[in-house]
Parts: sequence; structure tokens; C-alpha cells
Amino acid sequence: MPDRPDMASAGPDPRHAGSRLTIDLDALAANWKTLAARSAPARTAAVVKADAYGLGMARVAPALWSGGCRDFFVALPHEGFALRDLLPAAAIHVLVPMPGEAMAEELAAAGLVPVLNTPDDIDRWGLLCARRQEALPCAIHVDTGMNRLGLTEREIETLAAGDRSGLPVKPGLLVSHLACADEPDHPLNARQLEIFQRVARLFEGSARSLANSAGIFLGPGYLFDLVRPGIALYGGRPVPEARMRTVVTAEAKVIQVRRAPAGETVSYGATVTLRRDTVIAVCAVGYADGLHRAASGTGVALRETSVPPGCGFAAGRRVPLLGRITMDSIMFDVTDCGEGAVRPGDFVELFGPNITLDEAASAAGTISYELLTSLGTRYHRLYSGPRQA
Ligand SMILES: *Cc1c(COP(=O)(O)O)cnc(C)c1O
Repeated sequence: MPDRPDMASAGPDPRHAGSRLTIDLDALAANWKTLAARSAPARTAAVVKADAYGLGMARVAPALWSGGCRDFFVALPHEGFALRDLLPAAAIHVLVPMPGEAMAEELAAAGLVPVLNTPDDIDRWGLLCARRQEALPCAIHVDTGMNRLGLTEREIETLAAGDRSGLPVKPGLLVSHLACADEPDHPLNARQLEIFQRVARLFEGSARSLANSAGIFLGPGYLFDLVRPGIALYGGRPVPEARMRTVVTAEAKVIQVRRAPAGETVSYGATVTLRRDTVIAVCAVGYADGLHRAASGTGVALRETSVPPGCGFAAGRRVPLLGRITMDSIMFDVTDCGEGAVRPGDFVELFGPNITLDEAASAAGTISYELLTSLGTRYHRLYSGPRQA
């Protein structure tokens, strides 16, 4: 049930949930437009793998489409099939098409574009094209330094020389992926760029795509014909100078406000001893909701010691986490908020307008990507912005 006419909701009923996510689809579309303006004349795709980084592909993809995005990337075939149902006319690339001839047939039948990663992938696609007597659209992934997915430069050269036994395919798009785009001075960026340019010369007429979110900020030489942002769309900050709008706000409901005297301890392991009489807000969210235990106030040595523990934002100020994060509950020290300022039923911001996604992630010793994709299913989700038809 929508709480407001301009909001759609998903997940558990708000009365039954301990936490809520507000996902601003206007900000999402605005982020796409910002990146598209920066990348033009290159086209700007959207990477919506892993359920749009955990935010819900069913809402995110149509909002991006309404904003003008026409090119999409998913990781797995099942994500591609689901996206095809949502967006019948979109160009959908599948980054990790599974091996097998039946798989290739299914992808082709759904009009999905596989990003072919191995010589075998290419042979199989070539055979399918030959059998169908049709140049089915495909992309080829060339590995320029990740050693993750894609053909090596050597394999590409062999293929381009046409001396493989399989039938050559004509890729509509040549893809590679940067390993260190978020470190502009890293020498691997220039090396990958050089290899990519060299390989691209072998595929005249194929469009080229190298940059992810951070790659867009490496300069015009990295943009080529198509850019593939993911995290920046969702409000992550790919590089310090990027100013993306906040898309996700995560909040936890206060279920209890309790007082504990100086000298007592809080949470598992009794890792924090209170130095003063303390007002504690207990909130109904925990590591089962993606609040990694490494962000605990104390007692979990998984975070770099230079990074402060996680905190919340309540009654206009930051409130520190007390002790360990547990599966379903966390405790905040709200003493400084003042008498009665935080009450049961109130919400404490975990990240959003006051605590950035990147800051919350680094407090847990991780990155925005992992935080978003770990949020799970227990949040009541509110999608603000235009309702889709
Ligand atoms: C995930 C992914 C992207 C998106 O990366 P961001 O850093 O989120 O912008 C782009 N290209 C490939 C191949 C990916 O796997």
C-alpha cells in the first residue's frame, strides 16, 4: 500500500518491519542524466546486475528507461530474462552468459546480447548464427588487465586473423573493464587503455565500451562509444570529485530506549563499558540486514584501525554505535540528543542524506557496492519519484 500517492512500496508492511529503505527514483534518473551529459557523445548505459545493486531492478530499470536510458547490462542470464519482461525494447547485455548451446538459443530467443568471454563462447555463438543464417547481435569482452572475464589480446588477435576453425562473429560491441578506475593515477589505467585501443583497431565497425562509473571520470579518452556506470547511478561516489545525488536512505526503527548506569557493558562479548550513565536506543536492524558486524562500536577487529566505527543520525546529530552489531538489533548512544529526543517508533538514519553510503561502507571495512547488495529483504521499501506505467 502506498504511504503517499507519489510513493510505491515493497517488502514487509511498515508496521511489521524494523527498518526501511527509501529509494529516490528521481535522484536515480538525475544521476543517470548527469553521467550521460558528462559522457556525451558516448552513450550511457546502466548496469542493473544483482537486482540493481540490491535496490530492486523492477523499479530501478523502468525509472532509468523513463529517464532516457536505452542500454542495460546485467550479469546473469536470469537477470536478463527478468529485465526483458520489464523493458521489451531495451538493448540488454548479459555480462556472464552461461556456457552451453541451449543457453545461447535461449538468450537469442529473448533478444539478449551475450558478452562473449572465451573463444568457446564465440565458436558457439558463431555456430548458432550459421545455423540460423542470421548475424545475431553479440558483444566480445577483451581482458586488458583484470584477468577475470574476457579473451586475452592474443586470443583476440587469433580470432581477428580468422584462422580459428569456428565461424567468426561480428561483435556489435567490444567491452573491457578497468581494474583501477577509482585510482586515477594508477599506471594500469593507461596500460589497459592502450591495449583496448590496439584491440579495437582489429574490430572496425564495432562500438567500444571501457568505462564503469569511475572510468567516466578518468577523462574523455576513456569514454569511447558507450559507458557502463553502476554504482554512481545508485549514489555511490566513484571518485571524490563526483557529486552524485543520494538515492538510498536506510533507517532503523527505535524499538526501545533504555538507560544503563556507568560501569555496565553493552552487547555480546561485553566489549564496551559505559563511562557515563547512558541513554541507549535499541534499533531493529542488524547484520542480517547488511549492517556488517565489522562496523560494530567495539570488539570486532575486522576494520582498519584508522576508520571510525559506524554511527547513526538521530535528532539532528550523529550517534555512536555501542558495542557489537547483532543479527537483528543494534544499540546507539543517544545520551547527547537530550531528554525525550529519541523515542520508540522513531527512525535512526544508517546512511542517506546525513551519513554517506561510502562512509557507512568504510565504517564496516567494505565498499558501497557490498553494502547495497547486502541489504536483504527485511526492509520496508519506499520508492519515491514518478510512478511507472
Ligand atoms: C559491475 C560492472 C560495471 C559497473 O561498475 P561500477 O563500478 O558499478 O560503475 C561495469 N562493467 C562491468 C563489466 C561490470 O562488471
